[in-house]
Parts: sequence; structure tokens; C-alpha cells
Amino acid sequence: MQTSMPNWLMQRAFLTPDRTAVQYDGGKKTFSELHDAVLKRARQLAGLGISKGDIVALLMKNSIDMIEIIHALHYIGAIVLLQNTRLTSSELSWQLEDSQAKYLLVDDELAERISDFSHIRIVKTSELLSLPEQECRLQQEYHLDDTATIMYTSGTTGKPKGVLQTYGNHWWSAVGSALNLGLRETDCWLAAVPFFHISGLSILMRSVIYGISVYVMHGFDAKKANDILIQGKATIMSVVSAMLQQMLSELGERTYPDTFRCMLLGGGPAPNPLLEACRDKRIPVYQTYGMTETASQIVTLAPEYSFTKLGSAGKPLFPAQIRIENNGQIARPNEPGEIVVKGPNVTKGYLNRPDATEQALKDGWFYTGDIGYMDEEGFLYVLDRRSDLIISGGENIYPAEIEAVLLSHEAVEEAGVTGMADEKWGQIPCAFVKLKEGCEVTAEELSGFCKERLAKYKVPKQIYFVEELPRNAAKKLLRRKLAELIPKSGGTK
Ligand code: ATP
Ligand code: MG
Repeated sequence: MQTSMPNWLMQRAFLTPDRTAVQYDGGKKTFSELHDAVLKRARQLAGLGISKGDIVALLMKNSIDMIEIIHALHYIGAIVLLQNTRLTSSELSWQLEDSQAKYLLVDDELAERISDFSHIRIVKTSELLSLPEQECRLQQEYHLDDTATIMYTSGTTGKPKGVLQTYGNHWWSAVGSALNLGLRETDCWLAAVPFFHISGLSILMRSVIYGISVYVMHGFDAKKANDILIQGKATIMSVVSAMLQQMLSELGERTYPDTFRCMLLGGGPAPNPLLEACRDKRIPVYQTYGMTETASQIVTLAPEYSFTKLGSAGKPLFPAQIRIENNGQIARPNEPGEIVVKGPNVTKGYLNRPDATEQALKDGWFYTGDIGYMDEEGFLYVLDRRSDLIISGGENIYPAEIEAVLLSHEAVEEAGVTGMADEKWGQIPCAFVKLKEGCEVTAEELSGFCKERLAKYKVPKQIYFVEELPRNAAKKLLRRKLAELIPKSGGTK
């Protein structure tokens, strides 16, 4: 028998109807008001013909509409496919085809991107508002094994895969996070990361499960985010390092009030200079490690270790386990290997990809494709993705380590490192650097800076200065696109 529990938003609206559920530009809604709005939308969506089990794609930016539509689709029992708004028309089309989605609900401003998709019913969000309502069967209960959402991986290694996220995955992710970070009824989570990524969507799930409010940002804006935090309007925020870096620069001499209790930092490597700068400003940063397949964080640094274990992603959340494997053997402390994880928040597999599922999930353990090590006390240090590893003359080089050194230089704002083919060494590390405004430094100086801090084989053989590094919609560095930035002239400054 499947484990089930009451529909989350319905239960929340029943338990604490008057608490604020969502704040957004131009208004706020209590859980009871949110439930009413969602109910209406569920009936409108049912009027379109959407029913239980249908896959419905969303191409939307963060907004109250998006929140309502996600909940409304769950009220009907539909599976929500969240699409990245930065994808090209052909990438979107590929995902829709692969997933066999029946409908696509799209923000009006994004509609031109999908003008020629004839195989699917497309509805603009503005049109949804005026649709007639139709009585429908509502999901009074959520079954934990049912798929709630699908998100495609970005496809760094081969074709993107649709990650199945069940209600149980979201539930256990939210519970695991609360057992680590604690829960206060006055909490408000600032959502500046997109809901089409798990870092954003998990905030919505936590909000209804915990009974706390979400402050929705339509898009990330460092100044606006800082203002919200300084005014004490949010107590927790999820960020990736590029966002935090921008916020820190914008913050200047100001600080956040003590009511701000957690900056949850994930999505990629966290450079130590950034962590140190946050420590100096008393910003409570919690490094986390997780992925789409783990329905958000699975490893997080508990508050009491945030300073003594700087740079570590922490220990697993209470319901989860991790281990490091090297050639099928459990690695010794401090020995790098593949990070393997297990827990009720881990995906049951990829959509229509039994081969990929079988490869990634063995005996309930998920093989992440990331490399890391655990110290003697069991704290995880993430080194890099296996696919980004540079092997030079037989030595393993982790781009993140070199990037961290470059970032510790006062003139460097952003850095990305990738391997380039080399006749003698197989691969050699090359760096791409964006300088801080008004700062000057030569490639020779930066190279000298690296030589003082890194073994010779790790020192980038080329350093290119660029205006911008390639990042995806979650602001993550796309290392595989770095090589495209090489200027024709040779580029070192
Ligand atoms: P794809 O699987 O298609 O390549 P993706 O892995 O970038 O996409 P996500 O699931 O959003 O998509 O990202 C998870 C990945 O981000 C992890 O597997 C890891 O490589 C990286 N990551 C997450 N947290 C950390 C961390 N604390 N330190 C280093 N890397 C991290
Ligand atoms: Mg991945």
C-alpha cells in the first residue's frame, strides 16, 4: 500500500489559514487566500482537459501566477514539467517531445520562443485567467511514490535526462532541511533562484509543509535582495555563489540584521575567499551539496561547524547517507572518489531512461558523478565533477581548486578553468578571468600568483581575460563552454 498524506496546501490552509504564504511585488496572500486562488485555477486547468497523470510543461519566470499554477496542477494530480526559461526553442521542443507532455503553459513574454510547436496544446498565462471553471476531482491526498515534478538535467554529459521527483522526495527533502536548520513560524524564505530549478521549487514545497512564507523575486537583483534582507523582511535565502558575490559587493559597509539567520549556498563550488568575506561580515552562510536528483540539498554544514569546517559541504541531512567510492571500494578518509548518496529524497530514476537509471542507481545508492572526499570526522569536501576533471600528464587537476586561487586575487571577480587538448600532456589547464571593475592585472602577474599557491602542473598555461563567463539560468559556470570564449587574437592581456 502506498503511503499517503493530506494534500499539503489544503492541509496548511486548514491548519494555519491566516499566516502569510506568499509575498510578491504588489501584494501578499495568506495560505487560505492562496488555497482559494489555487482552487479556482485547478478548476480552470481542468476545463482545458488536464487530468490526473498528465504531464504539463511550464515555461515561466518566478511569480505568484507560477506558484498558483504549480499547486493547482498538483490539486488535479498532473505532473509538472519545469522548463528552464533560458533554453533555446529547439531544446524546449526536444524536452516536450521526450517527455510526451500534453500541454505547455507559458508566460506571455516567453511565448514567441515556442511559436512553431504544433504537437502540443499551448496556453499563455494571461489566457488562463479568463478560462471557465469546471468541477473536477481534486487530489485530497498526495501519494508519496507518485511523481510530482520533472526537471531535466542540463546535459553536461550527453542528452539531458528528465529527473522524476516524487511527493516523497520533496517531503523528505523539506523534513531533512528543517531538522538541520530548525524552523520558526516567523521564517520567510527569499526566493530569488528560479522555481524551475530544484533550489527554487524546494522553497515552495517547504513553505506549505512548514507553514512559512515565501518572498518571491521575479528575477535576481542584488540590490533588491539586499534591501529585502536589510529591512528584515526575510530570514532565510537560497543562493549560488555568483549571486552571493554580487550581493556582497553591493552590500558595502552595511550588514544584515540578526533576524536573518541563514544564507543557504549551493549549486556549485563555494570559493573560500567568498566564505571568508561572509564570515567577516557575520553573514551566516551554510554550504550545501545537492542536485536535481536529490530534490535539493542532501549534505549541509550544520551551524556549529560553519567556521571550523570552512569549505566543507558538511554532513548528510538526517534522513540521508553518503559514502565515497573508488574503483568499487569505500575510500579512506581524505581519499578522493565518487560521491555516492542514499536517502528518501533521492529520485526513483529518469523519465523513460531505464538504462541511465540503472547506471546511476545501484542497491538504492545514487552515483552522483561528482568527486569529493570525507575527512576523518565525516565532513564532505566536494572537489569537482568527474566530467570536468582535467588529466594532465597523468595527474588529476580539479578546476575548482584553481578557480578558488584565482578568485582569491584582489582584482579577480570571476574565474573559470577548463582543460585544453595538449600534445605533450594530454590536457593542460587554461583559465578565463573576469576582472573587477577598475582593476588591472596582467596574465603574467596572475600566473605568478598561481605559481606561489599551486603545484606547477596546476598553474593555468593560458589566462584569458573576458567580459563575461558562460553561466546557465542558475548562474552556474558552464565550463564546457569556456573554450568558445578564446579570442581570435590569442587573448592574454
Ligand atoms: P547536469 O546533471 O545536466 O550536468 P547539473 O548537475 O549542473 O546538470 P544540478 O542538479 O542543478 O544540475 O546541479 C548539481 C551539481 O552541482 C552537483 O552534481 C555538483 O556537481 C554541483 N554542486 C552542487 N553543490 C555543490 C557544492 N557544494 N560544491 C561543489 N559542487 C556542487
Ligand atoms: Mg547533474
